[in-house]
Amino acid sequence: MANPLYDRLFGRHAQSTRPFLHLQDGGAISYQDFLEMASRFAHVLTQAGLKPGDRLAAQVEKSPEALALYAACAQAGVVFLPLNTAYTVDELHYFIENSGARLVVCDQTSRSALTDVATSLGAGIETLNGDGSGSLAEKALTMPAEFQTVPRAIDDLAAFLYTSGTTGRSKGAMLTQGNLLSNAEVLVSEWRFTQDDVLLHALPIFHTHGLFVATNVSLAAGSSMIFLPRFDVERILALLPKATAMMGVPTFYTRLLDEPRFTRELASHVRLFISGSAPLLAETHAQFEARTGHRILERYGMTETNMNTSNPYDGERRAGTVGFALPGVELKITDPATGETIEQGEVGQIEVRGPNVFKGYWQMPEKTAAELRPDGFFITGDLGRIDADGYVHIVGRNKDLIISGGYNIYPKEIEQLLDEQPGVLESAVIGVPHPDFGETVLAVLVPKPGKTPDLEAIDAAARKSLARFKHPRKLIVLDQLPRNTMGKVQKNVLRERYADMFR
Ligand code: ATP
Ligand code: MG
Repeated sequence: MANPLYDRLFGRHAQSTRPFLHLQDGGAISYQDFLEMASRFAHVLTQAGLKPGDRLAAQVEKSPEALALYAACAQAGVVFLPLNTAYTVDELHYFIENSGARLVVCDQTSRSALTDVATSLGAGIETLNGDGSGSLAEKALTMPAEFQTVPRAIDDLAAFLYTSGTTGRSKGAMLTQGNLLSNAEVLVSEWRFTQDDVLLHALPIFHTHGLFVATNVSLAAGSSMIFLPRFDVERILALLPKATAMMGVPTFYTRLLDEPRFTRELASHVRLFISGSAPLLAETHAQFEARTGHRILERYGMTETNMNTSNPYDGERRAGTVGFALPGVELKITDPATGETIEQGEVGQIEVRGPNVFKGYWQMPEKTAAELRPDGFFITGDLGRIDADGYVHIVGRNKDLIISGGYNIYPKEIEQLLDEQPGVLESAVIGVPHPDFGETVLAVLVPKPGKTPDLEAIDAAARKSLARFKHPRKLIVLDQLPRNTMGKVQKNVLRERYADMFR
């Protein structure tokens, strides 16, 4: 019997002595060695009593071993549940309880704090440290390097991935083998990955971007990855000349552009730079092209669906857009009130359907029913429009929409204007409660290094170009915007901070 995810991503490389992971110390791990490590881990999991369909919660530093734990879960039919390394013990309590995990794998440093939590919830505990040591690795040492792959069906669950919690409490998205596989295979072909590719991997592996987009695509293509524990400009500059592709969040690209040593020459070996997880400013896109000659390929996805759209590999990569729906993915823009498709070019909610769309939120039937329609369309919570050439533009999140005096205001339109003003690096526009209008517009500006934006001039520019109801009622200057670990601006934090401004 088969296990499609394991067989197609991992198992077929079992005899391959080609490198899978290049490490920052110059060493490399072959596919074969990686898969033997994973099989040893799979034995440890089964001996710990994990059965197919059980959940394993892992809060571990990024390492080859941590990635092998994902492979081990796939081989043993265990549902993999990776957790953000920034989460506190209290937060972990929620995830372990909510998921009903049977085993918790954590760093040695959090073992004692987590043991109580795990025990009280009936879960076992093992450790895996950033350097690959820990109880899991110790037990694995004595295990056989071969493991009888557990049969699974394409519709069986492969992972629970919790959303980033940008708009509220994280939700556990149930992803099947088919969700992951279909997306990996489509992206390999859309982005032309082959076994000759070397992907520079500096993303965390507890999130869909680093775990599924980057890793699954590499596995499906048989490519290798330069596997870095985190984004470190020095290392990126040193290793970029060895890479053929890089995937990053927008902040990776702005940080590279801040570095004068990042030149056209340095980027010349790379064939493809990909960005996602948060909007890439059109300005960053333009600067990047001016500096390197490369047009960053922006794509759009989320925990619940993996990737939905991508700019074209061949053809125009249009700045400020996320391109077209991927093959097999249907995307439509609907009226939030009626759910009907709206006129081409108008802004509405983005809905998607396809083999990539998840099975629902774990133990949240009401939330699932509210966002996943019976006909299979998932209401993403993002607002967008499709331009005359078919490119999808993300306008913002439904929850960030400002309704002032009965008018809908899309923050992005105002942010774009503010970002263009002299001395402004970036901005965030939010709605805050207002006694007369229900909500009103507040703009937070971050100055360019060493610059002091002229607030009066900016106010005048807004008055000149924007309808009156869209004028920011107040401009606030901050050193930086609050961001979560994926580089996403936390507008809810700003909304809370300034909630009483006009009350
Ligand atoms: P939560 O659902 O818990 O509030 P989250 O939506 O930030 O958190 P993720 O699944 O990590 O959690 O992120 C998906 C979201 O990221 C998308 O819904 C979209 O808002 C945003 N996003 C992803 N790629 C892009 C992109 N290229 N441009 C603009 N936004 C993007
Ligand atoms: Mg979301």
